[in-house]
Amino acid sequence: MLFLALISNESEPMTARVLDGTKIRDQVFAELTAEVRRLAAQGIRPGLAAVLVGESPASQLYVKSKIAACEQIGLGSWLHTPPATITTDELLRLVDELNNDDAVDGILIQLPLPAQIDTKRVLEAVDPAKDVDGFHPVNLGRLVSGRPGLVACTPAGCMEILRRADIKIEGANAVVLGRSDIVGKPMALLLMHANATVTICHSKTRDLPGVVRRVDIIVAAMGKAGYVAADWIRPGAVVIDVGTNKVTDAREAESLLRNFPARLEKFRAKGSVLVGDVHPDAVNTAGALTPVPGGVGPMTITMLMSNTVKATKLRRGTAVQSIASAW
Ligand code: NAP
Repeated sequence: MLFLALISNESEPMTARVLDGTKIRDQVFAELTAEVRRLAAQGIRPGLAAVLVGESPASQLYVKSKIAACEQIGLGSWLHTPPATITTDELLRLVDELNNDDAVDGILIQLPLPAQIDTKRVLEAVDPAKDVDGFHPVNLGRLVSGRPGLVACTPAGCMEILRRADIKIEGANAVVLGRSDIVGKPMALLLMHANATVTICHSKTRDLPGVVRRVDIIVAAMGKAGYVAADWIRPGAVVIDVGTNKVTDAREAESLLRNFPARLEKFRAKGSVLVGDVHPDAVNTAGALTPVPGGVGPMTITMLMSNTVKATKLRRGTAVQSIASAW
């Protein structure tokens, strides 16, 4: 266990232990690959159906990497690519077909959907048993009441990092910065169920630095590059940085990366850099932290794969073993 108090020597500068999401992804993928082989021996092949509406290059890239992950661990996959002009009713019919297709264990609707589509209606039409994104109100309700279900992939990935890095959650004071339905709220619930004492902050919170300074675990999910200053972080605290912000402004990049000349060089060559919600200088105050990129990012697809295998087992009545995360 990482005992937070023991590493809090305020007088000495420290370099945080890096919580490498890429390594954890590789571990979980290896476990899932073995699990998929065991299922194959029972004649079961888990399958994920992805629905990609329109031709947004960013969405195409995300879906491509999700399908590639399926192939890597041996899951079946189907890609549906309706045109951007599709109506809500037409999309609902496709979701209905996938709900009724017994070979499909997981349904992924790539967001955002075009403006004419009623996104909530479409997401709520997905069979909760196949809702591998964990967005359906039934799965959210299960999470609230502490019952097993499918949990949103990014917060589930943050928990997986904490657990696999042996961070002590029980009894810890934690803050979640952000209260979105897909990250902040489920994250706070997961930490609470793991027996942390959780504070949830948002844009109207007073004295954010004061709140952050008191806690052992910080999960930042605001979408504000480098917003959490290094001196807000209690020496030795654990930082999970969900933020993925593309910085293109040279002055902003120089201010954020002033102590990281190699990254600054890369920014100058490329014209952009990915920065989390926590200032990069936090590496000198935190006890452990997830890098951006390479921390939480790789865990989102990882948990999508994990959820697909879990959905298969729950739906087809195979015992769920602890591959990844208890939820
Ligand atoms: P979101 O829906 O925009 O929610 C942002 C939250 O941050 C809101 O609750 C907002 O408060 C709060 N917030 C904004 N400014 C704040 C401030 N100054 N002080 C305190 N709270 C503030 O964003 P999201 O979808 O949760 O995503 C958050 C970040 O995570 C983004 O950078 C996103 O790109 C990243 N993300 C990464 C992954 C990954 O795989 N790594 C996955 C999902 C999201 P209000 O509620 O008061 O507006």
